[in-house]
Amino acid sequence: MKRWIEQYIEEKKNDLTAISDFIWDHPEIRFEEVLSSQKIMDALQKEGFDVQHNLAGMPTAFVGEFGTEGPVIAFLGEYDALADLSQESGVAEQRPIAKGDYGHGCGHNLLGVGALGAAFAVKAYLEQNGLPGRVRYYGCPAEEGGSGKTFMARDGVFTDVDLALTWHPAPMNSVWSFSTLANIQAYFKFKGKSAHAAAAPHLGRSALDAVELMNVGVNYLREHMIDGARIHYAITDSGGHSPNVVQSNAEVLQLIRAPRIEQAQSLYERMTKIAEGAALMTGTEVEVVFDKACSNFIPNHTINTILGESMADIGPIPFTDEEQAQAREFQATFTKEDMGSGEMGMDGMKISADEPLVRKPLPYMKMDKVMPGSTDVGDVSWVAPTGQIVMTTAAFGTPLHTWQLVAQGKTSYAHKGMLQVSKVLALSALKMLHNEELIAQAKTELQEAVGETGYVSPIPEWIKPNQKNA
Ligand SMILES: [Zn+2]
Repeated sequence: MKRWIEQYIEEKKNDLTAISDFIWDHPEIRFEEVLSSQKIMDALQKEGFDVQHNLAGMPTAFVGEFGTEGPVIAFLGEYDALADLSQESGVAEQRPIAKGDYGHGCGHNLLGVGALGAAFAVKAYLEQNGLPGRVRYYGCPAEEGGSGKTFMARDGVFTDVDLALTWHPAPMNSVWSFSTLANIQAYFKFKGKSAHAAAAPHLGRSALDAVELMNVGVNYLREHMIDGARIHYAITDSGGHSPNVVQSNAEVLQLIRAPRIEQAQSLYERMTKIAEGAALMTGTEVEVVFDKACSNFIPNHTINTILGESMADIGPIPFTDEEQAQAREFQATFTKEDMGSGEMGMDGMKISADEPLVRKPLPYMKMDKVMPGSTDVGDVSWVAPTGQIVMTTAAFGTPLHTWQLVAQGKTSYAHKGMLQVSKVLALSALKMLHNEELIAQAKTELQEAVGETGYVSPIPEWIKPNQKNA
């Protein structure tokens, strides 16, 4: 089985690489991934998958399905880029192609296609061997700041999935054995009354004052929240550029993160009270506009064990000396502190690398840690047993969302990491399909983690994706 998968992916290598490079060449940001989603849908159709698009009211969300009976195995793909990250391919210095343009700073061109290769391989294997099993590829838009999967989960598109697998590009190889932070993002829009700041200050009610007082209140809240929580903010409307006018409208965007979604929800309630207090103090009004949210990721030990075994089975990634040398050039653009990102913000998770491109997978270890970041894969993991891995596609120490990550997205070593993922995910899926007891075990584990209440979407029913709130 392993050798068959390796051979299959090698045969598909050029096709898969071309799709990933096309997506890199056409970076599209959240909810606008028209060309990228179409490219993957076309490839799915060509392979004989049934494709449906426009899932959960999002034109660039889709699913490709093959097979009519047996367990549902889902591969999750992303393809959105980031703003202001235009960068030439392969050069180890910051050189935007077009200033202010988009770029694949999180490697989602590789992410979407690595998962696609796995879906193709599993489909072909089941077909050739006349085995039951339904293979799905979910095209998930707007991972960056849009929580596409959370909207899809709210709409029930993952409800009948028996096993979901995905990955993320990284500077190392390992099973995603930790949880992530849940988050909630909301706009606080203050409305006051403008007045001449010198002639009639007593008639003005400053919305900007309210934003400032809200931020002061939130700063005091920080001392009285649980350790793992985080609050970030951006003033998205300061009210104007004239100090001699009392600002009548101002807005702040707040982002709350916590280890579990109910903790983030409780902080959100307290934050709303602070906003009301700021409005009271300034004689203004506040409107709270919910933007998006995602749940914490629930790791699944049963799936992770299989993923860890499969990573070891497929073995180290065969990077060449030339590839190592190219990656070393990128490493030279980082300080020692930048490279510390290899710790991933977690005590006891110090990972060091002897060579710029990490070839070997870390052995899987069950751990009780929360990574200080968020992903909308979290919502899928509440509904269906979900497993994730990370695979080397960049020089060790390369942080996500940087021009260095963009520049490495079309290198031969990034392609190698991506194809390695297709093999590992396909092998893991087939191992679990061959032993349905494992799928049952993974489901029991999920039920225990979720508890009786089950999944409750962190995004209220009336919030639509891609709502232009700002
Ligand atoms: Zn990402």
